[in-house]
Amino acid sequence: MPNRIDNPPLRKGSTDVFVADLQRGPEETLDPSDWEELRGLGHRMLDDMMDYLSSVRERAVWQPVPLEIKQKLSVPLPLESSSLESVYGDFKQDILPYPTGNIHPRFWGWVMGTGTPVAMLAEMLAAGMNSWVGGFDQSAPLVEEQVLSWLKKILEYPKESSGVLTSGCTMANILALNVARCAKAPFDVRKQGLQNQTHAPLVLYCSTEVHSWAQKAVELLGLGDNSLRRVPVDSSFRIELEALQAAIQSDRRDGRIPFCVIGSAGTVNTGAVDPLVELAALCKEEQLWFHIDGAFGALAILSPKWRNSVAGLHLADSIAFDLHKWMYMPFEAGCVLVRDSEAHRKAFVVNPSYLASQGRGIAPQAPEFAARGVELARNFKALKIWFSLRTHGTLKFGRLIEQNIEQAQYLAALIEKEPHVELLAPVKLNVVCFRFNPGSSDDEELDWINEDILIRLQESGVAAPSGTRVSGCFAIRVAVTNHRSRKEDFQLLVDSVLQLGLGQSREIKQAR
Ligand SMILES: *Cc1c(COP(=O)(O)O)cnc(C)c1O
Repeated sequence: MPNRIDNPPLRKGSTDVFVADLQRGPEETLDPSDWEELRGLGHRMLDDMMDYLSSVRERAVWQPVPLEIKQKLSVPLPLESSSLESVYGDFKQDILPYPTGNIHPRFWGWVMGTGTPVAMLAEMLAAGMNSWVGGFDQSAPLVEEQVLSWLKKILEYPKESSGVLTSGCTMANILALNVARCAKAPFDVRKQGLQNQTHAPLVLYCSTEVHSWAQKAVELLGLGDNSLRRVPVDSSFRIELEALQAAIQSDRRDGRIPFCVIGSAGTVNTGAVDPLVELAALCKEEQLWFHIDGAFGALAILSPKWRNSVAGLHLADSIAFDLHKWMYMPFEAGCVLVRDSEAHRKAFVVNPSYLASQGRGIAPQAPEFAARGVELARNFKALKIWFSLRTHGTLKFGRLIEQNIEQAQYLAALIEKEPHVELLAPVKLNVVCFRFNPGSSDDEELDWINEDILIRLQESGVAAPSGTRVSGCFAIRVAVTNHRSRKEDFQLLVDSVLQLGLGQSREIKQAR
C-alpha cells in the first residue's frame, strides 16, 4: 500500500510561516466573545420586531426610499469590524422603515404574502440550525417530506407522488416543465439537448393569460419562446378549449411535437381558473403532459365553500404553487408536486462520487432532494411551514382564504354600487380589477387618470393595489392574499379612489 501521508518536503522557509501563525494567539471565530451581551441584543431585536409587527396597521402602507437612504445603502466594502449595536441601529434607521409594504393590512399589490409572526420565529430557528437540506440522515429532510405529504393531502394529490419545496412558483413551474420535457420528448433530452436537428420541434400550450414565468421557462429550457403557443381566452379569461384543440391539431399536421399543456388555477391578472377537468381529459386523449400553475389559486381548495372553483387539481401530472402567497408564509416558499416520482427523479438525478451514499453514517443515501431539482444547497424552508401548519391548522388557513375571497366579493359589490367606478373583469376568486370612470372621458384619458389614482394611492400610504391592463384598459388591481385585511379597509380603498378620481375630473373640466 502506498504511503498516503507521504507529503512532499516543506519548502525552505515555510516553517517560518507556521511559527508566525502560532504567535498570533488563539484562533479567530465569528462567535461572540461575550454571549450574554449578544443574548441581550438578540432579545431586544425580537422585542423590536414584535412591536413592528403588532403596530403595522398604524403606519403608512408604503413610503418611498429617500435619496439619502439610497446613498447610505451604497457605501464602500467594509474592511474592519463595527459593533453589532451600531449595525443594528443602521438597520432600524435605513432598512426597516422602507419595505414594499406587503405586511400591511391594505397591501394588495401583485400577489405577495404578508408573512406571520409564528413563521418569523421558525425562520430564526431554521437559520440557527443552518441545515443543508439536500438530503442525508438528519431531521430537516424528514420535516420537508412531512410537509410535502401534508401538501399532497391538501391538494388531494397521490401519496406516491414526488415533490420538492422551491424558492417560489417560478422555480417550481420551471422544474415541472423540465420533467415534462424529459418525460415526453421522443428522444433523450438530457443526453442530446435540443441541439439535435434531426427531430421535430417540441411545442406546448397555455392561455394568453399565463404568468410570465412561462416565457422564462421555455427560454431557459432551450425550447424558445416560439414553442409556447398562447391560446386565446373567453370573456372570463379562461383558455378556449376549441382553440387549444385546433392549435394542437395544426401543430401535429405541420410535424411539430406537442408535449404539454399548462393550465392556470388563478391567473395573475384576474384570478381566472382554466377549465382544469376538461384540460385534463384533453391531455389524456392527446397524451400530453398536464401541468397546472396554481401559484395562489390552488390553495382555494382549503375553503370548503370555494374548493369547487379549482376542481381538478389532482388530475395534473405536475402542479406548482406558492406558500408565500395564499398561505401567508414569509418569502421564500414554493412547491412543485409531480405525479410520477420516477419521471421527476429521472429528469434531475446525477451521481458524482463526492455525493455517493456510504450505506451508513451521515450519507446513507445520495442526497434525495438534489435529484428533484437544480439546486444542491437548499435551506430549511420546510420548518416555517411545519410550524405554521401545526400551530394554526389547515382549518384556520381555509377560513382565512375564504375570508380573502369574500373580501374580494365585498369589494366587487362596493364597486358595483358606485356609479363612478366599474369592474373590468369578473371576480371569480380573490382578484379585483376595476377603474374609476365618471363617464365623461375616453379610454385613453381613463388610462392615465387611473394610473394617476393608483400612484397617488401608493404615495399617500393609504393603500397599495398594483396596476395591470385588462382587455386593453388600465386597471387598478387588488389581489387579496392578506390575513390582516378587514372589510373597512376595502371601503376606505373605494372612498379614496372616488375622492382622487373626482378631484382629477374637476381639474380636467377646469382645464377645458
Ligand atoms: C406569483 C405567480 C407566479 C410566480 O411565482 P413566484 O413565487 O413569484 O416565483 C406564477 N404564476 C402565477 C399565477 C403567480 O401569481
